[in-house]
Formats: sequence, C-alpha cells, structure tokens
Amino acid sequence: MKIHTKAVHAGDRKRAPQNIPVTTPIYTASSYSCESMEQLDRVFGQEEPGYCYSRYDNPTNGALEELVCSLEGGHGALACASGMAAIQMAVVTALNDRRKSVVAANATYGATVSLLMKVLEPSGVAVRFADMCDLDTLRAVVAEARPGCILMETISNPLLRVAQMDRIAEIGREAGAALVVDNTFATPMIVRPLELGAHFSVHSVTKYLAGHGDVLGGVVVTDQQHFDSLRTLSRAIGPVLGPFESYLTMRGIKTFPLRMERQCANACRVASWLSTHPRVGRVHFTGDPSHPDAPAIRRLFPANLYGAMVSFEIKDAGQAEIFRFMDALKLVVRATSLGDVHTMMLYPVMSSHREISPKHRERMGIKEGLVRLSVGIEAPEDIIEDLAQALG
Ligand SMILES: *Cc1c(COP(=O)(O)O)cnc(C)c1O
Repeated sequence: MKIHTKAVHAGDRKRAPQNIPVTTPIYTASSYSCESMEQLDRVFGQEEPGYCYSRYDNPTNGALEELVCSLEGGHGALACASGMAAIQMAVVTALNDRRKSVVAANATYGATVSLLMKVLEPSGVAVRFADMCDLDTLRAVVAEARPGCILMETISNPLLRVAQMDRIAEIGREAGAALVVDNTFATPMIVRPLELGAHFSVHSVTKYLAGHGDVLGGVVVTDQQHFDSLRTLSRAIGPVLGPFESYLTMRGIKTFPLRMERQCANACRVASWLSTHPRVGRVHFTGDPSHPDAPAIRRLFPANLYGAMVSFEIKDAGQAEIFRFMDALKLVVRATSLGDVHTMMLYPVMSSHREISPKHRERMGIKEGLVRLSVGIEAPEDIIEDLAQALG
C-alpha cells in the first residue's frame, strides 16, 4: 500500500463491541477492568492482548503507534510525550545490552546534544561526536570508541547535510553498534531509515507528522529485535504520550503526505528564488544540484522530494540586520519549530545554537547571518512576496 493510503487507514477502525468507529476515540481511562480476575491476570502477564494500565498500553496511543509504524515500515512503535523523550527511549534501548558508548553526529538538534552531555554522559555513557558525512573519519572514530549506538539525523540542522545512512548502518553493524536515526526533518515520505539498515527511527511528531502546531509528541519505531525491550523499558520509565495528543497527531497524519508534497514543491520554488536575490548569500537546500551531498541525496531520496527546509545567509548581516529582517515579515511566522502548515522562520544563533560559542558556531558553518525557513503549504507566490518585501 502507498503512503497516502496508509496515512488515512492504518491504525483506525478497530472493532468496538457493537460497531466500528471510523476514527479512533480518545481513551482517557487510566486503567481497565476485565470480566474476570483470570482474564485480567492473563492481560497483565501479556499472555492475552488487552489493556490494564495506560502507562503500559492505551488504545488511542496504540492506533497512532500502528499508524507511524506502518509509515516507517517497522515492526513496532512507541508514542512518547515529546521528540526528546522518544530519542532518549531509542538510545537507552539501543544501549540496554550494548557498550555504554555513543557516537553522535556533530550537527544535531540542540536538545539532543544536551541529552547526550547533560543526561547520558553524567550517567556513565561515553559520548563522542563525528562528522557523519566523512565516512573515513567516522570509521576511525567508531573503531576507537567502540560505540553501542550511533546517533544521526537524516537531514541535519540547520545546514541540511545528508549523510549516507545505509553505509553508516553498515559501519555500525560491523562494530556491533545499533543505528538510531532522527527522521524528523525528512519524514517517511522521503526516507524510511529501517529500510536502510537503521534499528530505530525517531520522530518529533510535533513537526511534520502532526503538522498543525498544536501537539508536542514523539514516536520511536523499531525492528523486531528491539521492540520488546523498548516496551519493557517504557513500562518502567513511563515516557508515554497522552491520548488527546495521540488523537490530534493521528488527525494530522491523515493529510501529512499531501502537505509534505506541497511543502517540498514550495521549498523548491522558494529556494530557487532566494538564490537569485542580491541580498542573499549562500542558500542551503537539499534539492540544489550543487548541494555538497548531492550524490547521497540522489541515491537515497525519491525524485522531486527533497524536504521543505531552506536555510540561507543574508550577506553581511549580523544580529541587528537579522532582527530587522525578521521583524519585517508579515506572513512568515517567527517561531521556534518547523513542519507546520504555515511557513516559519527561526534564527539559529538566537535559538537552537544559542548555547554554542560564536567560535564553535563559526567552525560548524553557522554564520551570524544565517536563518532557517520551514516552508509551509501557502501559495508559494505569497511566501516569496513576503520574503521579498522583508529583504527590501
Ligand atoms: C523538534 C526536534 C526534536 C525534539 O522534539 P520535541 O518534540 O520538541 O521534544 C528532536 N529532533 C529534531 C530534529 C527536532 O526538530
């Protein structure tokens, strides 16, 4: 079945005693009773499918998990209260019976760096960073660090680099490391990490999957090998999503493939317009034929779907000029997120990369004049008109 069909069918329409609801209800019950103690005993013992307590299993969450698992082509999934909770669950599960060592991409979401440095490292996990686009160096770092887990993003933030995930999975497999991929920016429309050898695909569903700026949530999708241990650890830690958020996320996902196609097409239009503007310097866009990772993108991405993020530099701009430019935007929303139906802009130096020293930022290639645009579903002419008037 194609992704557009899965998006509106998977997970839903489970038979209730008298009928079949066309969409999954919000089950708010924290616990469940059974006809008999014997049956409850079997449900508790996981010998019979059923529900006993909402931290263990919840029917609304279960429907969302089935849906995202289907989109990603996994074996099982866990819905979490945030993208960060999902990343933590994936890494903790990956390391459960492996060496307590992580090799992470040196360009990741800011909070992922915090999770590694402020939570995992103090609890005894060795953390190393590496450039995932330089496979020879990565091989050397993996040989030295002997990680239990490699952690990367399909499309990096904010410079939108694309590493060769399948080759990295191979490097990991040879070293006995599990591969955890944050697939938030790419979505399963573009890449399904488990098909390329990853063991875990993680989403902040806050972004493209829910897509309307009204949910905070995350999902981990995994393979048969890791699913039982993911569920067992989740039962002990309790990072689960609330059923209201699950419902909103499922509602959002029904139109996700349509939105994503539109957003990707809009991003192509906006990126090519930006690249001709005299005030605009470098444009980072995965659909650009001269992108530094163009061969990997051609090999791993479908034709015409490159993602809907565009980062660009304004020539000779410091913070004051960027503030003036962003304050002049009338349609594009100044906000710290991405993937919503409306176009949004963020200033990495002020938000996602605020904690990083200017010198380190410069070395990462994140300039004072760089902004990040998440292109929405509006008419592309209107997005371009707003950018044009704000650029002046
Ligand atoms: C937003 C985001 C996260 C964190 O997700 P939350 O839902 O905010 O916890 C992780 N990774 C990436 C790539 C993100 O964009």
